[in-house]
Amino acid sequence: MPADTAHTLSADRSDGEREIKRIFALQKDAYLQNPFPSYDRRIAGLDKLIELIEANEEVFATAISADFGNRSKHETIIAEMLVLLSGVRMAKKSLKNWMRPRGVPTPLHMLPAKSKLEPQPLGVVGIISPWNYPVFLALAPAAAAIAAGNRVMLKPSELTPHTSDVMHGLIDAAFDESEFAVIVGGVETGQAFAETPFDHLLFTGSTSIGIRVAQAAAKNLTPVTLELGGKSPAIIDASADIGKVTQSIAYGKMLNAGQTCIAPDYVLAPPNKLDETAAAIAAAARALYPEIDTTTDYTSIISDRHFSRLKAMVEEARDRGARIIEVGSANALHPQRKLPLTLVIDPPADAAVMKEEIFGPILPILPTGSTEDAIARINKGERPLALYWFGEDNEARDRVLQQTVSGGVTINDTLWHLAQENLPFGGVGKSGIGAYHGRAGFETFSHLKPVFYQSRFANSGLLHPPYTEKLEKTLSFIRKIL
Ligand code: NAD
Repeated sequence: MPADTAHTLSADRSDGEREIKRIFALQKDAYLQNPFPSYDRRIAGLDKLIELIEANEEVFATAISADFGNRSKHETIIAEMLVLLSGVRMAKKSLKNWMRPRGVPTPLHMLPAKSKLEPQPLGVVGIISPWNYPVFLALAPAAAAIAAGNRVMLKPSELTPHTSDVMHGLIDAAFDESEFAVIVGGVETGQAFAETPFDHLLFTGSTSIGIRVAQAAAKNLTPVTLELGGKSPAIIDASADIGKVTQSIAYGKMLNAGQTCIAPDYVLAPPNKLDETAAAIAAAARALYPEIDTTTDYTSIISDRHFSRLKAMVEEARDRGARIIEVGSANALHPQRKLPLTLVIDPPADAAVMKEEIFGPILPILPTGSTEDAIARINKGERPLALYWFGEDNEARDRVLQQTVSGGVTINDTLWHLAQENLPFGGVGKSGIGAYHGRAGFETFSHLKPVFYQSRFANSGLLHPPYTEKLEKTLSFIRKIL
């Protein structure tokens, strides 16, 4: 089906709303015709996705780069296509096992009945995705929803129009719109989308919009998974070898120019190693991007608005007395909307750079004395999406793990917990609700229906009225075996 026909929408809310309603009705009807798609049918859907991803790596890399101004093809392959492909392939390999009803123990007094959890598709699910990893964050939840046997409607970000158009065209060509459809449009279309009575809605984006999406979904009691943002700390413990940890921090921060939901937002470093830490992160950044003025390896900031926001954050911190270290020539980079890694040493706690999610290549480094100080500082803020801890002192590590609450953690590196499909990925508190990836994704988009299979030898009639002495004896026996 050509991309400019059935699923194409104008940004106008009424057009968008009409098209959302049309596709939703179509998908709901298809769901009612076949509420439990077979294993083979789900595998066919996952195969279509795998083929689409494998055949279009270059196409996606080019579209994403056009949307950003510049995004390295290799960064797109590593951080979007490979992670996505590994997730879809894993879903394919595990699907038979995930779909199997799971027996749960039945208490003695209910035997010989049997009890099971039987995964069931929810129906029609909605996915709203952001611009920062526009393919991975759209198609990874879609794959989980398809594996779980659902119909899927996807609303990608308006800030990546090239990528959204490519995804739209490819998905239209590969899938029937009753199975998987893309709705292209702006914020107003997003609002109408969030008000649709989906059987589940997964939103990836900012915390402020996530709250609005949850409010819109609540009107229909649509359950939501919210994959949000926040300020993810990296703690360098006194036991860490600074030389070994800083490359990982520089890489985690500079990948996609810091426009990564789980990028280390700020660093807590031992006070006596503050300068050493800053110098080592700067050296690591130079080693990663030696020709930062000219390299196509380094990603541009997505829009002028975000570029100005990030510049203003640095200027405010400078005015408030923080020491600023720019790792690269700002003058040469600005015309390409690229920002060099900018270290902000010890900014005040109420500076924007410490209050807002940074979402760019700016890295505050704060002196933090003890493990307790680090824990107290983190617990003063909202619960982060990710936390990174570097060091060799396992006792200090475990204290941080037990006394802070974050969506996920990587120890002695950054980012990796996201790529491990067997670990559920999601936030907690203001950084999100629910999780997906691997089996967690399948379960997010399934109803794990509890089913009690009564035995024909059951004696439950003994509990029915009339309540006689016989019942009293039965009750005293049950009390003993409970
Ligand atoms: P955003 O919240 O501005 O937009 C996300 C999506 O919501 C877009 O598709 C947008 O069109 C849509 N939208 C905007 N207003 C809407 C409304 N009122 N109702 C319904 N939909 C609406 O986020 P963004 O700027 O695209 O992405 C950056 C944010 O996303 C950062 O905060 C980042 O941390 C977060 N993020 C989180 C994850 C995660 O997995 N937890 C991953 C990537 C990004």
